[in-house]
Amino acid sequence: MHTPVTIIGAGLGGLLLARVLHVHGIPATVHEAEPSPTSRTQGGMLDIHEHSGQLALAAADLTDEFRGTVLEGRQATRLLDRAGTVLFDQADDGTGTSPEVQRGELRRLLLDALPDGTVRWGHKATGARALPGGRHEVTFADGTTAVTSVLVGADGAWSRVRPLLSTAVPAYVGRSFVETFLYDADTRHPAASKAVGAGTLAAFDPDGHGKWLVAHREKDGTLHAHLSLTKPQDWFAAIDFTDAAAASARIAREYDGWAPELTALITASGPTLRPLHALPVGHRWDRVPGVTLLGDAAHLSPPDGAGANLAMQDGADLGLALAAHPDDVEAALAAYEQALFPRSAAAAAVAPRDPTPQEIIDFFAPPAR
Ligand SMILES: Cc1cc2nc3c(=O)[nH]c(=O)nc-3n(C[C@H](O)[C@H](O)[C@H](O)COP(=O)(O)OP(=O)(O)OC[C@H]3O[C@@H](n4cnc5c(N)ncnc54)[C@H](O)[C@@H]3O)c2cc1C
Repeated sequence: MHTPVTIIGAGLGGLLLARVLHVHGIPATVHEAEPSPTSRTQGGMLDIHEHSGQLALAAADLTDEFRGTVLEGRQATRLLDRAGTVLFDQADDGTGTSPEVQRGELRRLLLDALPDGTVRWGHKATGARALPGGRHEVTFADGTTAVTSVLVGADGAWSRVRPLLSTAVPAYVGRSFVETFLYDADTRHPAASKAVGAGTLAAFDPDGHGKWLVAHREKDGTLHAHLSLTKPQDWFAAIDFTDAAAASARIAREYDGWAPELTALITASGPTLRPLHALPVGHRWDRVPGVTLLGDAAHLSPPDGAGANLAMQDGADLGLALAAHPDDVEAALAAYEQALFPRSAAAAAVAPRDPTPQEIIDFFAPPAR
């Protein structure tokens, strides 16, 4: 295939696609809205799953590089109730199959594996329109345009490519994450640090009430927490998140009565609101010549530890499909979507909208472990 592939979005899915195409000698250009690779911290730990993310990285010929970014010991998992009672505590004994990496390091690894100039930074797509012959024209915020025969929307939840294929828009799932960071936690927040342990902590209210949290130990003694609150968006809109102390106090009130080592994850840091949206379960589209979607742009779901893995799997599958059909883009896109739709529908069906206490237990402390 000599036709360059135009990818919108340099997230994990878009970059994985670009890398698999590169491995197969297919040129690609990635247009990314952010001005540079370092303009935003990419924070967050990702566990990379054996049957999706790891296979995708293998297809990208990057398994060794990926292994080099794994943070040892981080597959440890603890489950506590709101009183701080430990219900489940599993150390990382090295037999786990989903090693943890920092998202920023994984993205860096993918960027380093692409030829210079593959990513055009500061190229925010504002829209795209169909041209005759299965081609598309993408318009960017700086007024420039790109015309392509193979267009891939890898531009996440609010994709500007998706309208070419579907009228679906993400809807609020009824809950939001509030994100906090505790730095130098071993010294400054020892109780919280002990509660989180070596890897992942989940803590929940056995009576439900739509309140739980999950925290990860990142590099350099940083604890990174997401508090899940089931509330309408209006409720969050009444909180001024630019006033860190007041916002923190308001969120902490929701966790009144929780053990102090858990509430320290809320009160010791300025909170950031992350509203959660999702596309309809089973989102799909009819084949439109010359364009497709991957990752969150195709199947945004509430976070359940699978989204980045699926985005990379999509990227790898699409890259391999294009390589397998070098003279027939439509056959490649059809084959890719035939596998994509059932896979993402199945994943979205199990992604938790508003998990019950039992679903939280089953997720973080599965009986088989
Ligand atoms: C709080 C939270 C925690 C999560 N934890 C996990 C986890 O532990 N494990 C896991 O597997 N998944 C997790 N996920 C889900 C995961 O983050 C996403 O599913 C994954 O990042 C999707 O990858 P993507 O490449 O499709 O999109 P994204 O990662 O969103 O990348 C899209 C890229 O496109 C760019 N872009 C957007 N709009 C435009 C535009 N108009 N023009 C050009 N570029 C554009 C963006 O800047 C970005 O670089 C989590 C999600 C959230 C919200």
